[in-house]
Parts: sequence; structure tokens; C-alpha cells
Amino acid sequence: MASNVYAYRIGAALYLNITNRCTNDCVFCVRRTEEGVGYYDLWLEKEPSLEELLEAAGDVRRYREVVFCGYGEPLIRVDLVVEAARALKAQGVSVRVNTNGQAGLYHGRNIAAELAGLVDTISISLNASDAAHYAALCRPGQGEEAFPAILEFAAQCTKYIPTVILTVVRWPGVDIARCRQIARDLGVYLRVREPAGTFTS
Ligand code: SF4
Repeated sequence: MASNVYAYRIGAALYLNITNRCTNDCVFCVRRTEEGVGYYDLWLEKEPSLEELLEAAGDVRRYREVVFCGYGEPLIRVDLVVEAARALKAQGVSVRVNTNGQAGLYHGRNIAAELAGLVDTISISLNASDAAHYAALCRPGQGEEAFPAILEFAAQCTKYIPTVILTVVRWPGVDIARCRQIARDLGVYLRVREPAGTFTS
């Protein structure tokens, strides 16, 4: 049953859960299971307003970083991310966004530029080395258009965001070596994630 957990702590980081909507339906997404993230039920009855989100976050100076993440794709609500990140940065905390990288395609504008000066780290799920494999694994609403859009988004992010990370889930059929080459070509890090614990982007 949904309980509107907008902010939750894992280790030294505070995670913000702002939407359950997503442009993907990944085969490995924990949203497809009955379990939540640890003790947290991240299904939302209602998406938070800016005020509700900041109230749930509280004083963030005690955290190493604040991460927009949750049970869905945070950049679907990019306007909220921008406003909240501005308020959080004013408290001096580092801000990260975990995303599926489709925000540019979804909104039809340069979202990376809107995050400049507000987001310190962006972690983009690459998850495949080509459009066909991506479509099979992540089942994006926009089909094979999604993958090149993610690469373009990642390239844009390198201009505006200090740290850009691509991630890939270790999953049958995923060519990690080719993903590593894509990351190298973009000049960004690649992080390989194990499927257990995967829940968003
Ligand atoms: S893993 Fe992330 S990108 Fe994939 S469906 Fe779940 S929330 Fe969306």
C-alpha cells in the first residue's frame, strides 16, 4: 500500500522519491516485484509538490549527498528537480540525479543545460550497447529512438555537469565491453551494477 515516502536515507545519502512514472518498463526493474527498497515502500499515492519535498528532506547538511532517484524517472519532473536542487544546493549539499537519460527526448529540449550549476553528478542508465538491445531490455515507450537520445543526452551532460556516469546492469546479453567503449568515447565513467538492488533508472 502506498505511503508517500518522499525522502529516505541510505547510508550517508538522502534519496528523493518524486514520481513513479517512467518512460521505460525495464525487465529488471524492482517496480515489477512486490518488494520495496529495504524498509521503504516507494509507491506514491500522490507526487510531492516542491514544498512537500523540501519538508520531507529537512536539513540536508548532514548528508554526503542528496539523490533524485526513487521508483520512477525523476527527470519526467524536471521543473521540480530544478527548483528543489536550487534549494538544496543553497544548503551546501552535493546533488546527484539518477536517470534513464531520456529527458531530452521526452521533453523535446536540452534538459542537461537546465541542470547546469544545480546538479553535481548525473548517473545515466545506458544498459545496452545498441538501440535494439536497449529496446528489448528497457522497453522504452519511444522504442529504438530512445538509445541514440540517451547518448545525445549524455554528451550534453558532459558540457554542463561536473561528473557524468553511465551505468549498465550485468544482465544476459549485455555487452559490457562495448558499453565501456561508449563511455570511453564520451569521456565519462562506466559503472557496472548487479541486478539485485536495481530499482530505478
Ligand atoms: S529501472 Fe529505472 S528506467 Fe527502468 S523501468 Fe525501472 S524506474 Fe524506469
